[in-house]
Amino acid sequence: MSVDLHCHSTASDGALTPRELVRRAAAHGVTMLALTDHDAVEGLAEAHAAAREAGIAFVNGVEISVTWRGTTLHVVGLRIDPANAALAAGLEGVRGGRVARARRIAAELEKEGIAGTFEGAMRVAGNTAMVSRTHFARHLVQRRVVPDTTTGFRRFLVPGKPGYVPHEWAALASALGWIAVAGGHAVLSHPGRYGLSSGAMNELLAEFRDAGGEAIEVVSASHSVAQCREFAELARHFGLAASRGSDFHAPGEGAELGSLPALDARLYPVWRDWGP
Ligand code: AMP
Ligand code: MN
Ligand code: MN
Ligand code: MN
Repeated sequence: MSVDLHCHSTASDGALTPRELVRRAAAHGVTMLALTDHDAVEGLAEAHAAAREAGIAFVNGVEISVTWRGTTLHVVGLRIDPANAALAAGLEGVRGGRVARARRIAAELEKEGIAGTFEGAMRVAGNTAMVSRTHFARHLVQRRVVPDTTTGFRRFLVPGKPGYVPHEWAALASALGWIAVAGGHAVLSHPGRYGLSSGAMNELLAEFRDAGGEAIEVVSASHSVAQCREFAELARHFGLAASRGSDFHAPGEGAELGSLPALDARLYPVWRDWGP
């Protein structure tokens, strides 16, 4: 069984439509897939239908953007009901402000001598309400300002760089509340990416668990082997379950669907009790 509980489609900053994504996952041997677009559930119905056709198990998911003590975190909700009104209203609130932020990012890039990136990023975005830094990075690649999206982020789009514009996302407790009312399971995405000190990480995990968080994404393409081990230990220490996700966005950009090591056998997989 190959489980991949984290990926993106054109409903957020992925490059494949939900149907293309599911077909690719099946072709790569994935047997259970969750689609987890950023702050958006619009891709789930198409992905679910495609998964039925492809004969693989499908999980309704979403990846919510959160601001915790000034740091951006991502929380994945799995097995959510995408029709839940409280979740939908929450996600709409988180999405609001993305277009205004994109204008500010473009204004900063223009100061660097790169004009027209707002229009460029909006053209790249499949869902313009979800315009993201990824779309700016892809646009900069198309313009040959940078050779690849990773360089685009490193030079322009991460904190401390000229095109980075801070943004206030959802509160952690709000995101966990929306996932809970929608019947979902909350997973802390790629914790190794946040650059938190070990003290802050411990405080985050305690707060996450006490507010209803259920699992940590232990195996993620963002994690080194050492980080997978570190977060496996933290999951056990905090009594949290574990998840596994590629965070696939596009062919040739980052990790491939399903291409991940197995979870450590001593962990409790978040999907263990989910029937077919
Ligand atoms: P946003 O929600 O607009 O701030 O964009 C966040 C997205 O940018 C993440 O979901 C990743 O897909 C992507 N991203 C963030 N940091 C990096 C990075 N250093 N390299 C490549 N992609 C990144
Ligand atoms: Mn993304
Ligand atoms: Mn993420
Ligand atoms: Mn993601």
